[in-house]
Amino acid sequence: MYSKKPFLMKNSNIATIKRDGDLKSPWQADLTSSATTIPEKISETIFDCLVVGGGITGLSTALLLQKAGKNVMLAEANSIGFGTTGGTSAHINNFADTTYKEVESAFGKEGASLFARAIAEGQDLIRENINDYKIECDYDSKTAIVYAEDDDQVEQLTSLFAGLAMVGIHARFTDIIPVSIPFKKAISIENQAQFHPLKYLQGLQKAYLTAGGKLAEHTRINKVSTSDDIHIAESSQMTIRAKSVIYATHMPPNINVMNLESAPYRSYVLGVKLKSDKYPDELVYDLQEPYHYFRTHTIEGEKLLIAGGNDHKTGHEDPEKQMADLEKYIRKYFNVSSVKYKWSSQYYVPVDGLPYIGQMPLTKNGIYCATGFNGNGMMLGSVAAKILTDLVIKGENIYKELFDPCRVKPIDSFKEFVTENADVAYHLVADRFGIHETDSLKRIEPGTGKLVEIDGKKVAAYRDEKGTIHALSPTCTHMGCIVNWNQEEKSWDCPCHGARFDIDGKVLTGPATIDLPQMQE
Ligand SMILES: Cc1cc2nc3c(=O)[nH]c(=O)nc-3n(C[C@H](O)[C@H](O)[C@H](O)COP(=O)(O)OP(=O)(O)OC[C@H]3O[C@@H](n4cnc5c(N)ncnc54)[C@H](O)[C@@H]3O)c2cc1C
Repeated sequence: MYSKKPFLMKNSNIATIKRDGDLKSPWQADLTSSATTIPEKISETIFDCLVVGGGITGLSTALLLQKAGKNVMLAEANSIGFGTTGGTSAHINNFADTTYKEVESAFGKEGASLFARAIAEGQDLIRENINDYKIECDYDSKTAIVYAEDDDQVEQLTSLFAGLAMVGIHARFTDIIPVSIPFKKAISIENQAQFHPLKYLQGLQKAYLTAGGKLAEHTRINKVSTSDDIHIAESSQMTIRAKSVIYATHMPPNINVMNLESAPYRSYVLGVKLKSDKYPDELVYDLQEPYHYFRTHTIEGEKLLIAGGNDHKTGHEDPEKQMADLEKYIRKYFNVSSVKYKWSSQYYVPVDGLPYIGQMPLTKNGIYCATGFNGNGMMLGSVAAKILTDLVIKGENIYKELFDPCRVKPIDSFKEFVTENADVAYHLVADRFGIHETDSLKRIEPGTGKLVEIDGKKVAAYRDEKGTIHALSPTCTHMGCIVNWNQEEKSWDCPCHGARFDIDGKVLTGPATIDLPQMQE
């Protein structure tokens, strides 16, 4: 019924790369987005695969599938790199936020070894893509340094070291660290790397389009239904039909089981110029809770210290304070000349420590997802591409069981699982009964937002620099929690599942797919 006709591409204006926040990351600095491509004749085609989401996971997956001979369509709600990949800190390391010892305790030694192998495969794929497609993305091999500042952290470091040895990663103790912070013990791990994530994405995008892949930017997939084994994806502009659908959206959209499996976290990063040339050549990490990290990147010919941390559950702390605290911490230990960039972004912590990659629970066969990458999505998003490509083509992959989104969580994680969900339940109930601070419209300063109560109704109100109020319903369109104001990124963030909206209510980050309704002042 549907013939495969050639696609005509339209070009729109080349523009600055956009991100899901008000603050600019350095990756957006010296790049413009490549021409937006809008394939035509979509309704006449049944694609082999629809990949939803144009971050590192979506583009890596789309490229592998297209190269494997599949007819692929990639739909991105905004533009390539708009999500967390545009706000990452881009370390490519072979140790993860969930340590190998933690994985061993929940999934056994074999699980820990497989996890290490998956991360190494992710690192390898990045290197292979860079070599195969000659992507110039500042890729640089590095040594990592992890240091402990007190006895508790020494214990953690010892366990980290033992976990690395268990899975065959060589580390050694060192007496020197490249930052002026007092420490008790440190280890160094070789064969790590760093890169420029958006230059890498643009390289993948070029390779994908050259291989014949189709890309529709500014196309948010709102829902997928299935008829006669064909999945029908709807966006406001078009309907896309495909034999398989891959949600590479960081968190699958709408209400689904995955909302319960991972918790959204916000993380902060600064790009600062130092007074001296004492930039660390290594990737440096402390073991505080939440931890800090430091590395160096040259942006537009200028060296910058990239320093990050101060993570917290989305919507649970004041982002302005978190950012200020991070800056204070960096200024304490580094001779800062100026802060060139500061930005924040969101990642998802899986309740049992491992990512969820594979057939999505409670959906029709052939609908896949990849989420729960913690702070390790460069490697895990890349290996997800390999896993999902195998699952689409052969139905099998060595990591299928370990990362199965339908897996039953080990007992160890149950406590954490209950805590995460009790917290969501609190917001679902408490928010509705007005426990949040409210204030009057008059007291909202220009450039700031607040939850206020007008005639007994809650309103998410933002006053722009001209004094105009942008008033929205504060009830998240995903599951009905009340959103919180994020002064740093000028967004309304949901504390339950991490949906985010701009000052006019437009969805910035899923799982919501519907904008916050605007209200009359
Ligand atoms: C501050 C910070 C620092 C980090 N540092 C590191 C690091 O050093 N190393 C590391 O390995 N990891 C790091 N991470 C994690 C890593 O950045 C992420 O895991 C990774 O970028 C996720 O990539 P993704 O492609 O899965 O998602 P994203 O990059 O978020 O891409 C998802 C895309 O899907 C689109 N989308 C969403 N919903 C829809 C829809 N319904 N229809 C169409 N499109 C949709 C979005 O617009 C977005 O562009 C960090 C995370 C943060 C927050």
